[in-house]
Amino acid sequence: MATVLDRVRAFVERLAPEPVCDDCITDRLSLSVRQHANHKTRELAGSPGFERLKDSCSLCGLVKLVISKKLR
Ligand SMILES: [Zn+2]
Repeated sequence: MATVLDRVRAFVERLAPEPVCDDCITDRLSLSVRQHANHKTRELAGSPGFERLKDSCSLCGLVKLVISKKLR
């Protein structure tokens, strides 16, 4: 069974290399608590290939902290 982190990772990878914000991740994956996505993206940002920075989200268009996966 996929963990929340697995689902967040798969979602970000599907959008790669487009960045996505925590709120959109929470919304699209129907996560219960906002902190949850926030915690997961911070965890994910420590993984190779993932980058967390302030940029415009590819889904909602707002400039905020987003996460993206670099394509090789
Ligand atoms: Zn967004």
